[in-house]
Amino acid sequence: MMKEQLESIQHTIKKAAEKSGRKEEDITLIAVSKTYPASAIQEAIALGCKDFGENKVQELVQKIESIEEPVNWHMIGHLQTNKVKYIIGKTALVHSVDSLKLLKEIQKQSLKKDVITSILLEVNVAQEDSKSGILLEEAMDYASSISKLSHVRCEGLMTVAPYVENPEDNRLVFRQLYDLSVDMQKQKFDNINMHVLSMGMSNDYWVAIEEGATMVRIGTALFGARNYT
Ligand SMILES: *Cc1c(COP(=O)(O)O)cnc(C)c1O
Repeated sequence: MMKEQLESIQHTIKKAAEKSGRKEEDITLIAVSKTYPASAIQEAIALGCKDFGENKVQELVQKIESIEEPVNWHMIGHLQTNKVKYIIGKTALVHSVDSLKLLKEIQKQSLKKDVITSILLEVNVAQEDSKSGILLEEAMDYASSISKLSHVRCEGLMTVAPYVENPEDNRLVFRQLYDLSVDMQKQKFDNINMHVLSMGMSNDYWVAIEEGATMVRIGTALFGARNYT
């Protein structure tokens, strides 16, 4: 079951990558394992998945402890400042950096543990009240703040696009994030290398890849519908 889902996703990734002049290998599939048990992660690892995304600190830490294989852990959900200390040194990438306060705490805790933390700036492109993320027009100010932080590296941008019936409706959102990353890269800020664009979920990831996504975050299309009870 999961095998077929994964093959179908990989096929879609390949087609979308080729449409945008890239290869399948240029796109990282992040298996979003939130709410699923460690056994589902084990099954995905056996099928070749190497990157996993979680949106809650406690669940992320528990899963990191219960999985022995060396996989890449991605924090993709809203991160509270007081919880930063629990994940520093354990994640490949924190996708959801959305405030200066959070950036400063990541710098502080990374310095303390003597590690460099890789992050993405989360941008609320569609300006939805229900979503976190900075605004497009704030991004350059954030970049100049990041350039002064010794233990933080910004690897690119992330967005959570609106839920839409027709994935084409998010094309412009993805394009705006891509354009912003090109503009930011031109500025040559210290500590910033815009090589990651984390955008696209189960519902719209092929559109995101066509518009330049390098990482897609996929939960339900791989693991099936989530049960929150
Ligand atoms: C849950 C989640 C996903 C995956 O969503 P699906 O629609 O299940 O693919 C992606 N990104 C973030 C930030 C999430 O919280």
